[in-house]
Amino acid sequence: MLVLVINCGSSSIKYDLIDTETKIGKCRGMIERIGAVTSIVKHEPSDEKRVKETKVIQNHVEGLKEILGFLLGPDTKVVDSASDIKAVGHRVVHGSDMFKDSVLIDDDVKEAIEQAIDLAPLHNPPNLKGIEAAMEALPDVPHVAVFDTAFHHSLPAKAYLYGIPNRLYRRYKIRKYGFHGTSHYFVSRQYYKLTLKDVKDTKVISCHLGNGASVCAIEGGKSVDTSMGFTPLSGLVMGTRSGDLDPSILFYLVEKEELPLSNLHALLNRHSGLLGLSGFAADMRDLVAEAEKGDRRCQQAIDVFTYRIKQYIGSYIASMNGCDAILFTAGIGENSALIRRKAVEEMEYLGIKLDEDRNNDVQPGELTRISADDSKIELYVVPTNEELVIAIDAAKIAQASAQSPWI
Ligand code: ADP
Repeated sequence: MLVLVINCGSSSIKYDLIDTETKIGKCRGMIERIGAVTSIVKHEPSDEKRVKETKVIQNHVEGLKEILGFLLGPDTKVVDSASDIKAVGHRVVHGSDMFKDSVLIDDDVKEAIEQAIDLAPLHNPPNLKGIEAAMEALPDVPHVAVFDTAFHHSLPAKAYLYGIPNRLYRRYKIRKYGFHGTSHYFVSRQYYKLTLKDVKDTKVISCHLGNGASVCAIEGGKSVDTSMGFTPLSGLVMGTRSGDLDPSILFYLVEKEELPLSNLHALLNRHSGLLGLSGFAADMRDLVAEAEKGDRRCQQAIDVFTYRIKQYIGSYIASMNGCDAILFTAGIGENSALIRRKAVEEMEYLGIKLDEDRNNDVQPGELTRISADDSKIELYVVPTNEELVIAIDAAKIAQASAQSPWI
């Protein structure tokens, strides 16, 4: 089945057209700076030349028209007709505690996503805009919402409750939700497939290390704890996000620098993390290059980043009373041998032993074991594919809805 996967940010749309039978992408692309004087449009068909141009795209509805125009255009034709696209899968960041699985989008689902805007003010509004625009552009196909939070629905209360008055949880739903669920789900399934392990007996730690980063403890195939929390700000140090910090720092800053709340928000989300620590860059490649030249603050940023990963790994081994495998994924996890090495160094006590050669020889896009043969806990690099998870879920739900006249 041909599925269009849509991931909308406030001024961007990313898309992937995926054949769920072959699991191969036919075309992908991105529109950035929607609503600015000029937008940047990129289309990358699998067997054709890439297109990159600037255009005026005023809103998400125009963005979706541009994408369909490219996919169906006489010169660029990727599919023969719009009716070849059998479903649209939408990435939705926050499903609050309402969605434990992907769902067919109807008015009730849209309303529920809207209700969750309070919990994800940066992410859910553009996700909704994308849904509206895509439903307008492709009104006759099923649209499916796939939530970043859904995989973490299995967290036990001891993991998702914060140590604050319980009435705040009951009144405002303040709890840990967790994110990157589709990625943690996908890489753990790749590991089960490869090792043919009985899922119910496995304990796995998945480290999604990209611009956003999180660690997830997965027991018996289910998420039992994860480092992101009420929002994607907590846990690991990230590109520009602080990760965990003592909340008293905020009161202290409000007093010392008389910062309004909006500045605090920007400080922790956009000016912290690797960028804030190094004062140089959020991008790991730039940091590593500068650290190698001897820049002390870039070295420190890398140390803080990897030390935090190591702490979460240790903590989740304790939570699960053991671990069979640690999986590294996303931009940094898949590509940086240095970060992987530093994240698991000096953990021999726990039975973690990296094979340096295997770690250095990982080829892009390949699932690779990087632990030594006698390591008690196996280590793997597992390329993630969140878009494929979204496409497959959308295809399954679209098929089910076609078979059921009641939906
Ligand atoms: P996101 O999807 O969250 O935007 P990605 O998963 O694409 O992020 O990861 C982006 C990060 O991966 C950046 O910090 C980038 O520097 C890092 N990265 C990509 N390739 C490498 C590499 N070869 N070495 C180190 N870091 C890399």
